[in-house]
Amino acid sequence: MICNNLSVNGEGHLTFAGVDTVSMAAKYATPLMLMDESKIREKMTIYREAMKEYFTEDSMPLFASKALSFKYIYKLADSENIGIDCVSAGEIYTAVQAGFPMEKAYFHGNSKTEDEIRYAMESGAGHFVCDSIEEVSVIDEIARDMGITQKILLRITPGIDPHTHKKISTGSVDSKFGVAIETNQAYELVEKTLALKNIELMGYHCHIGSQIFEYDPFCDAARIMIKFIADTRDMFGFTAKELNLGGGMGVRYTEDDPEIDYRANIRGIAEIVRSLCSEYSLNMPKILMEPGRSIVADAGMTLYTAGYLKEITGLKNYISIDGGMTDNPRFTLYQSPYTVLLANRMNDSCDYKCTVAGRCCESGDIIQEDVMLPKPCRGDIIAVLTTGAYNYSMASHYNKVPKPAVVMITDGEDHIVIKRETYADMIANEV
Ligand SMILES: *Cc1c(COP(=O)(O)O)cnc(C)c1O
Repeated sequence: MICNNLSVNGEGHLTFAGVDTVSMAAKYATPLMLMDESKIREKMTIYREAMKEYFTEDSMPLFASKALSFKYIYKLADSENIGIDCVSAGEIYTAVQAGFPMEKAYFHGNSKTEDEIRYAMESGAGHFVCDSIEEVSVIDEIARDMGITQKILLRITPGIDPHTHKKISTGSVDSKFGVAIETNQAYELVEKTLALKNIELMGYHCHIGSQIFEYDPFCDAARIMIKFIADTRDMFGFTAKELNLGGGMGVRYTEDDPEIDYRANIRGIAEIVRSLCSEYSLNMPKILMEPGRSIVADAGMTLYTAGYLKEITGLKNYISIDGGMTDNPRFTLYQSPYTVLLANRMNDSCDYKCTVAGRCCESGDIIQEDVMLPKPCRGDIIAVLTTGAYNYSMASHYNKVPKPAVVMITDGEDHIVIKRETYADMIANEV
C-alpha cells in the first residue's frame, strides 16, 4: 500500500501502525484521527541524522508545527532532539506547556503583534525569523525594553517559483513573505539590521513553498542563498552563521505521487551547499530545515462513518460522512488529492465510483471526488489516508461541529492525545 504502516488483517480490516482501524472507530467513535508515533519519530530521525551527516554537526531540522500543533508533538520533537518553528503565540504557548526547550524554537510570521513578540521573548524563544525592516525595528525596541539581545534570522525571498499550488508557493518576488533579493531590498534590510543594537543577526531564512516533489527548486534556493551570504559578507563584512532553507518537501498522498527519498534529497542539497561554500571561501553555515508536512502527513489517518448514499441517476454518486471540511478543509481549499479506502471491507472489489461528501451546508465540502470503493453502505468505516498534516491544525467549528479526537498509536498501544471536543467546549467562551 501507499505507506508501510498500512496493512489488511484476517478480517479484511485496514490496519494502521499495527492496530485494527475498525476497532479503533468502535472504541473511540468517529470522526477520529489516528497518529502513528513511530512514523513521526522515523521521519524526525531521517532529517536529524541526514542533516548532521551531510551539512554540519550542529545542523538541525525544526518541525514546522503549524502542520500539527499540540502538546504531545512538541514532546516528541524534544525527545528526538530537534527544534521547532512556531508562527504564533498560541503555538509558542502550547510548546511551553509541553515543556519544550524554547531556545530551540524559531518564531516566524509576517504579522507578529507586539504582544506576541513580548510573549515570545519572555518564553525564551531562541530565534525570531523577521519578515520586514519595520518588524526588525519593533523587535529591536522591545528587546531593548526587556534588556535582552534577540537573535534573529532575516527572511529573504529568493525569487523561485516551484511547481506547486499557488496558495502554498511562497518564494517568488510577489509574496507577502520576506524581502526580495531581486529588488535589492534584501541588501538594505541586512545593512539596517546590522546597525541595530539589541539584535544579533545570525543569518538568513528562505522558504519556497510546500508539497514540492522536484528537488531542483531547493538546490536553486540554496545556490541563491549561499551567494547572498557571500555578497553580504563582501558588502558589509558580515558572515552569516546560520542558513535556514525552510520546509516544503512533498508527501505521497496517492499512488500517482512519486516516493521521496528525503535522505537523498538532503545529501544532494548538501553537495551543492558544500561546493558553493568552497567556491565563495565560506565555512559551511549551520543549516536548518523546517519540514512540517513530510514529518507528520503519512503518520496520520482519519476515520469516518458512512452515512447516506445518494445516487443521482445518470450523473454521480455521493456518499456522506460524519465529518468533512471542519476536520479536513484541504480539498475545499486546494483540491488536494487523497487516498480513500473502505476500512471494514478491504477485500471487496473497488468497482463503485463515488464522491465523498462532508456534512457541512456547503457544496464545496468534499473530501475527495470520484473515488473507487466497494459500494458503501451506512455504517461502513471510511478511511482517508495521509491526513496528519494541515488537517487537525486547520480544523474549524463551522456549522458548530466539534473537533474530532486524536489517538496516538505508540508501540501498538492506542492512547488519547487530544480529547474529542464536546458541545460545551465549543460554547465555553460564549457569554
Ligand atoms: C509552511 C512552512 C513550513 C513547512 O512547510 P511543509 O511543506 O509543511 O514542510 C516551513 N517553514 C515555513 C516558513 C512555512 O511557512
